[in-house]
Order: sequence, then structure tokens, then C-alpha cells
Amino acid sequence: MTQKRELLRAIPKVDEIIDHKSIKEILSSVSRNVVMDVIRRSLEQTRTSILSLEDLSEKDFEKVDIDVIVEKIVLEAKREELMNLRRVINATGVILHTNLGRALLPECIKDQVWETASNYSTLEYNVKNGLRGSRYDHIDGIITKLLKCEAALVVNNNAAAVLLILSTLAKGKQVIVSRGELVEIGGSFRVPEIMAQGGAELVEVGTTNKTKLRDYENAISEEKTGALLKVHTSNYRILGFTEEVPLSELSELGNKYNIPVVHDLGSGAMIDFAKFGIHDEETVLQSVNSGADIVCFSGDKLLGGPQAGIIIGKKKYIEMMKKNPLTRAFRIDKLTLAALEATLRLYFDDEKAIREIPLISMMTMPIELLEERADFLCSKINREVKEITATLEEGFSQVGGGSMPLQELPTKLIRIKPLKMSVQQLEGKLRGGDVPLIVRVHKDHIYMDVRTIKLAEFDEIIEILKINLDI
Ligand SMILES: *Cc1c(COP(=O)(O)O)cnc(C)c1O
Repeated sequence: MTQKRELLRAIPKVDEIIDHKSIKEILSSVSRNVVMDVIRRSLEQTRTSILSLEDLSEKDFEKVDIDVIVEKIVLEAKREELMNLRRVINATGVILHTNLGRALLPECIKDQVWETASNYSTLEYNVKNGLRGSRYDHIDGIITKLLKCEAALVVNNNAAAVLLILSTLAKGKQVIVSRGELVEIGGSFRVPEIMAQGGAELVEVGTTNKTKLRDYENAISEEKTGALLKVHTSNYRILGFTEEVPLSELSELGNKYNIPVVHDLGSGAMIDFAKFGIHDEETVLQSVNSGADIVCFSGDKLLGGPQAGIIIGKKKYIEMMKKNPLTRAFRIDKLTLAALEATLRLYFDDEKAIREIPLISMMTMPIELLEERADFLCSKINREVKEITATLEEGFSQVGGGSMPLQELPTKLIRIKPLKMSVQQLEGKLRGGDVPLIVRVHKDHIYMDVRTIKLAEFDEIIEILKINLDI
């Protein structure tokens, strides 16, 4: 008992801790309140743990050693300062990983974005006449030039775009959609529900696997129909005995009855990936050329930019949308606008877009390069990290983000097996660091896909593995 009291008395005082060299150091970067909180919490924990001891041993005196206590406090204080929303290393090989932030912005636009963000800007100011301008003007011209369309409007995301379109063109009216295209995107975006929110009545036509032009035509009512909607079945495909109406034929039908044809394209590919052997995806330009009156798509899927919803098409419809009060509610932020403008500008030169936009360079990375990188990282792991075996294995990466569900991109995976702990244990540790390393787990192995790993992250991965296997 006396020993326990002695131990409690030996716990350093707050003042002593504050005077410790390491604490003084950390106070230059971490705020004092945060450090004080951590100190108090840590001393309380030490006290509680001593009180709960049954028998004391010599080793317990280490618990009250000031250097040991301070070391823990420093680690914890640094963690307190970490952003909750922060960088991770994506070793899953899923390029547009919805949970990990979808598309990565191109490195080369960072100055442009920061310049606008940290200064006053022309956001809604027309420098030509000194009058109020529109935030949409900065980007409309670029989009219309790139996509050869009459007009454009940008909102927060594509879900907002669809809602705005339906609420503008078809409120109180009917919208005709094929039964094969009643998509759920995830995160509770379902076409029938968005339709209801937009105040439009859904008219389903055809069957799940087959919808014909006459199904649409039979459902048209000259007074009641507000729009014909075609939805890209982004995240699934209907295969086998199937039939759908090509957009061009649907557009002709809309023309004949003077009803707008809307195409929710979802992913919005700005380049034709066919030349890289990826054939599954219609581009935005192809959709525009098929004659749709309005096309909408995401900014952070296959375009590879920031989260945004882009609406393009006939000027008269876009003008109506600009007047809809929802446009104000869905108003795009200046940071996004800057990032989107800078990303879109890269597309004026296809070569540049392929080189600079991470999504595209990851998607089109040649297998030889993937093999070379995988081999390099794998050998480095085997050479430098103990208690682990790493081998190479053939595998596939995914585009993700609900795009190209059937497209398998051949890749080379690094297969890891820890020798002294379980795969689940290691996976949890990798995920728990300051920079979480997110991996795939499959059949009692950990897999890493170099396609989504930046070169600069290779050394970091080695360090993370070393720290976590060192037990
Ligand atoms: C992804 C997607 C949406 C939603 O787009 P967000 O930008 O995520 O809001 C809507 N429609 C389709 C067809 C999609 O693929």
C-alpha cells in the first residue's frame, strides 16, 4: 500500500512536464490548450492505472518516469493536431474510390486554385464594365468550346444537376424513362426518387431488358410529357437478350413532338478511351452529337476534376434553369469553379490531359510500367521489411465510382503475408497511422495495386510497413 502511494506521489507535476524540453518543442507547433488537455488526460490515465494495480513490481516505476510520460504526450498531442479529413495512400487499385475522394486533381493546377482562393477574384465581377458579373461566365465559354454545345451550367454535383433539370423542364409534367434505366447510384440517389423531388411524374416504359422506340412514342402525350429521359446505367449492365433505344433515335422522337430529350450521362468521359482498349464508355461529345437537348454529368468521375455537376445543351433550356431558384441553392463554390476551369483547360490538348490528369494517366498506364513499379516495390519490401513476404501476382484494377463496371484493367498486384501477426491485424494497423495506408484484403492476404499509388508514396509505404511490423 505504501508502495502504491509512493508511486502516485512520483507522478510528475504538470509544471515539471511543461518545462520538459520535448514539450517546449512541441508548443511551437501545437496550441497550448491542446497540449494542456493532453497532459491532464495523460496524468489522469497514469493515476487510474496505478490505482487499479494489484501487485506492484519494479517495472511499474517506469510508468511515472517523466521521459516516458512526455514521449506519450508528444505523440498524442501531434495526433490531436492531425486533420480529420486528410490524405491516405490508396493501394486498392480502385481509381475513382468513392470513399477515398473519387478523382485526384492534377498537380499542375494547384497554383491557379490557390491564387483564386487566397485572393479577391473576378468571381462575380465583370472587369470590362465594372459591373456585377456571373460566376458561370468563367466556365461557360470553355465548356461550350470543348463540347461544341450551345450553352452550359455548372452546379454542385450531378445529382443536383438531374434534380434541377427535371424541376425546370418537367415540374407537374410527366417524364418518360425506360424500365431498364431506373438506376440507383448509391447514397440514396434513385432516379424515381429524384423524379418525385423534382415534381415530375415518372412514366416507365418497356421492360427491364428491352425497351423499343414505340414504347416511348406510345407513352407521349402532347400536353403532359415534359421530357424524355435517358439514364446511363453507370454501375450495372443488362446483358443477354436486350434492346435499348439509341440516344440518336430518342432525340429524333423528341424533335418530332417538340419534347426535350435529357441524357443523364453520369460519368462524363471527355476523351475517347477506346484508343487505350477501354471500349465501354460513351463520351460527352458523342452524347451531344447524338442530338440530346440536355446532357448532364459529374465533374469528379471520368472527367477527373473536382466534384461538380455539368449541364450542357440547348440555350433556351439552360436559360430556364438559370432562373430556377434551385440554381442558387446548388450554387457552385469558387474553389470548385477554379479547379474545374483549370482542369477543363487541360482538355484543349488531349496529350496534356492524358499526362496531367491523374485519373486518365492511371487508367491508361501501360502494363509494362505497372509491372516495373510493382516489381520495384515488391523487391524493396522483401529487402527492407522484416517479418513479411511479398510476391507478385496478376490481377485487375477497377475504374470505380460507379463507372465502367465491367471494365477490368489488367495490373500487377503485390501480395503480402505478415509472418508474425494476422492479415486482419496488419490491415488495421496500416489503416490506423497518421497517413492511413488502405489496402485490399482477399483470401487471407493483403494486396497492393501500384496503379493508384504515387511514386512518391513508395518510400512512405516501406516506412509504414516497417513501423507496423516492428513488434
Ligand atoms: C454518378 C451518377 C450520378 C450522381 O452524380 P454525382 O456527381 O455523384 O452527384 C447521377 N446519375 C448517374 C447516371 C451517375 O452515374
